[in-house]
Amino acid sequence: MSEENMFSITRASTGNAARTGLLNLPNRQPIKTPHYLALASRGAIPHLTQDNVVKHTDIRGAYMAVEDFVEKGTPILKYNPPNGTSRLRAYTATPDNHLLVLGARRSPPVPSPGASTDAQMAIMTAFGFTKLQATTFRSLTSSLDPDIVVGLGDIPYGYYKVSYKKIDKITDRTARWMQAHVQERAVAAKEQASKQPMLYAPLLPLSCDAQRYYTDHLEDMVNDIHGLAIYSTVSMADLPAELQHLPRLGLTEPNNPRAVLQDISHGIDITTLPFLSSVTDAGIALDIRFPVANPSPDSPLPLGVDMWDTAHATDVSALREGCPCYACTNHHRAFLQHLLSAKEMLAWVLLQIHNHQVMDQFFQGVRESIERGTFEQDVADFERVYEPEFPETGGRGPRLRGYQFKSEGPNERKRNPAPFTVYKGKKGDQSEKIVEKGSVPVPGPDAMAEDLEKVGFAEKAE
Ligand SMILES: [Zn+2]
Repeated sequence: MSEENMFSITRASTGNAARTGLLNLPNRQPIKTPHYLALASRGAIPHLTQDNVVKHTDIRGAYMAVEDFVEKGTPILKYNPPNGTSRLRAYTATPDNHLLVLGARRSPPVPSPGASTDAQMAIMTAFGFTKLQATTFRSLTSSLDPDIVVGLGDIPYGYYKVSYKKIDKITDRTARWMQAHVQERAVAAKEQASKQPMLYAPLLPLSCDAQRYYTDHLEDMVNDIHGLAIYSTVSMADLPAELQHLPRLGLTEPNNPRAVLQDISHGIDITTLPFLSSVTDAGIALDIRFPVANPSPDSPLPLGVDMWDTAHATDVSALREGCPCYACTNHHRAFLQHLLSAKEMLAWVLLQIHNHQVMDQFFQGVRESIERGTFEQDVADFERVYEPEFPETGGRGPRLRGYQFKSEGPNERKRNPAPFTVYKGKKGDQSEKIVEKGSVPVPGPDAMAEDLEKVGFAEKAE
């Protein structure tokens, strides 16, 4: 095993093909690859408190974004945990043995208006669009102290084709940012002798040939980088031999399990699953197995079950038969369906626990399949047996915030508006009389219990 990057390859592949390995960092749970990282939103895995993550999931690590922590005054920097604990870990209450990966932008990010310059890149914080100085990013990565930092890359989000002129610009800029990062780390290591996060180099979403200028620089820096961040698998086809041994973190934003399998078949070791939280938000309980249980069903199987469906209202079976997760062993479909209809937050907590469990088993199946040498056939079976996309659900998810979706411009409508609001009443109907009677506001969150009693709120019906 390489001491340098704590990554060992257990079943190698020649170049652009699936492989298995082990990412084993000191004091962290070892991660067998291929595996996934949970995606955190503003430091938390959506719907899961840290104690639930530890008690009810097998999540081993999370990807977080600097843009989630940059705001006026950057409060996280005012927080000083004792005994040299990682600031990011303590601030987000991430369990001690979980891997913490920090990049500049969320996965997927909200495309930001305005191009990057050599000094800064456009980001989207919880308070709106702003610019992040490259120097600020580098100093934040050492003061936040995650396990792994994804270096700054001028990734052209929201572009499908990048012009030749632009390719020169972004490769040149990314090379300069990475060189500066490596140099600053070398100086810091000499001066403070403190440990630095591992550094993963971003590859631009182009073939390695198209970014040759940058990959040549990376080969020179290969002893100072500990992994690669991959934004498109087109970079994998001609990955230089000198960079093959490095672990590959996929930030390719796969939008369904099929896309995940394709990424893995191109040699991605660790991936993020942006669809996982959106599936949970949509009220879907995943139901996939890899390899498939029955290679020839009568019709393509859905990837998950729509838990909003009233057909589950009296169904006391588990979300998925035989699933060992907390949700499936303690509750049933009818309860889940009820929670969703009542917009109870617990619905999404239970779904998130179940859906992560299903993906844990999925990745375990993937690793075993690669080790067996049947991965290609198993992927072909999966693609034949399962529908390509998730089912449409009739229900509405929890509230969405601005930083969770692609902005379409100013004054856009609210996504998933609040299900409960203060009842305003119509002219002449009963509720207006209540207002007149005691000149007390219609029951709202600020109403006092005594005032409500006076106007007859919750009076026992005769
Ligand atoms: Zn389950």
